[in-house]
Amino acid sequence: MRDLLALTERPEVISFAGGLPAPELFDLEGIRAAFDAVLTSPAVLQYSTSEGNPVLREEVARRYSADGLPTAAADVLITTGSQQGLGLLATALVDPGDTVLVEEPCYLAALQTFALAGARVIGVPYAEDELQLDELDRLAAAHAPKFFYTVPTFQNPTGRTHGLEARRRIAEIAERRGFRVIEDEPYRQLRYSGEALPSLAASAPDHVISLGSFSKVIAPGLRIGWIRMSADVRPSVTIAKQAADLHTSTIDQAAAAHYLLSGRGEPALARIREAYRERRDAMLAALPAALPQDSTWNRPEGGMFVWARLPQGMDASAALGRALRHDVAFVPGASFFSGTPDVRTLRLSFTTYSPARIEEGLSRLGASWGAGG
Ligand code: PMP
Repeated sequence: MRDLLALTERPEVISFAGGLPAPELFDLEGIRAAFDAVLTSPAVLQYSTSEGNPVLREEVARRYSADGLPTAAADVLITTGSQQGLGLLATALVDPGDTVLVEEPCYLAALQTFALAGARVIGVPYAEDELQLDELDRLAAAHAPKFFYTVPTFQNPTGRTHGLEARRRIAEIAERRGFRVIEDEPYRQLRYSGEALPSLAASAPDHVISLGSFSKVIAPGLRIGWIRMSADVRPSVTIAKQAADLHTSTIDQAAAAHYLLSGRGEPALARIREAYRERRDAMLAALPAALPQDSTWNRPEGGMFVWARLPQGMDASAALGRALRHDVAFVPGASFFSGTPDVRTLRLSFTTYSPARIEEGLSRLGASWGAGG
């Protein structure tokens, strides 16, 4: 699989595999202005606190509160991307042999992080687009997990979102069974249609730890994310942060805070949403002709991914080999499963290319299924 994915990097390949934000939508000018403005004080080149820049923490907290989840700056710890947040939580909460529950399929780098911490990772399955909540309850009773990890909104890899009722039940099960939930929300603000849903932390504030990130709404190269957590886990997570890298880059945090307060973030995000909505629509419009008859796929209201399933008897890894001969790529879904993979599934990212390029790529994919492909 690694070898196949290396081939997706060839310049002539239209790759729906990567899931990179669109670089032409980065607000280069606004971010340059923010760095210029903060680079007037030597303090931005100095060591700083492990918890993070106070102005940035305050602004992240203000946004949660405005979103219906009362939050103080003290509840927020800035991380070097939300990926580091996952690592810190694994360090602070998991002892080797502990069980953690994940969605099946699940964000791959979270699986790797939990496995690296020595966790026993168990997947909670879906039936169609719905997480099996009775199974979550049963697995929690049977294994006393340290936590359940979920990407509740526009999940990576599936684009799936837990509805209001599912969110309430996850919170209720966590409270009743006494485990924590880690909700990882990098895509929450990338909504193109439908109503915003409350975060899980709003239903069970003492049981839910939330992760956030500017990677998908400003730029991933900034490497700025955060953990929102209650007071009981803060000391151990802060010590883990200190041990990992002392603190996230002082200057990057200062620039991010300045950028957010400059008011340039919202219009830039509106442009990103608008472009991604068009790209999602272009992909959904072209998919019927691009996938074999009897394939299925979802229609996510946001995020970066469409999740598709090939007809009975087909294998997406074999299909990728054929697609690459037509200079188009996707990720076979199998790599996102902690247990037995569904080899018919695949993930398609719609954010990287213009609608015209998406149509061209999907037309190549459509051509790849022919005999001898
Ligand atoms: N969580 C999920 C679900 C993701 O998809 C990603 C990035 N692909 C991350 C965390 C990590 O994001 P970052 O470290 O850039 O904030």
